[in-house]
Amino acid sequence: MKKKRPDGSLAVFPGSFDPITNGHLDIVDRGLSLFDRVRMAILVNPEKQPLFSVEERLALIREAYRGNSRVEVDTFSGLLVDYAERVGASVILRGIRAISDFEYEFQMALMNRRLDPQIETVFMMPAESYSYVSSRLVKEVFQLGGRVSDLVPPVVERRLSEKYGTPIRLPRSPVRRKG
Ligand code: ADP
Repeated sequence: MKKKRPDGSLAVFPGSFDPITNGHLDIVDRGLSLFDRVRMAILVNPEKQPLFSVEERLALIREAYRGNSRVEVDTFSGLLVDYAERVGASVILRGIRAISDFEYEFQMALMNRRLDPQIETVFMMPAESYSYVSSRLVKEVFQLGGRVSDLVPPVVERRLSEKYGTPIRLPRSPVRRKG
């Protein structure tokens, strides 16, 4: 018997996800309130030097969403609209943190619309507490010994410590006043 393809709406959430942060997870959760499935699609870009390989990033996302069949993960290269069409997605999901994200995202969305007018880009805003979180900043802070446990899923924090061998620093104890 032919395997039934899951029905319902599908949004593709493309990105580098190097590594995934709670900001990305927030956007996925919001996406799931509008669409039946969200597919995180890791862009394979040979020009970039990522911290985590594509395989590692796939594994991190799989682990973070283990048991949630509505979140899928995949890789792609080439044009995003071609990928979206191939997998039957009519929506591209992106997160907007601040005005600084807007210009680039706006250009990309309009270019993608030009390439394929059938595919809509949907922007979602994360919770304020994640509006300053980026993969780049998480890596920098961790490398310098700062805590990132509120900013990334536990599996990412574990993998970061394995990679850098940096001990996870505990929050500072409150300064005691004399007298
Ligand atoms: P890219 O290289 O495509 O920017 P990223 O992994 O950095 O890949 O981001 C993928 C998507 O997730 C982008 O739409 C980005 O704006 C969004 N994003 C990244 N961090 C956050 C965050 N903290 N809150 C909301 N959206 C975010």
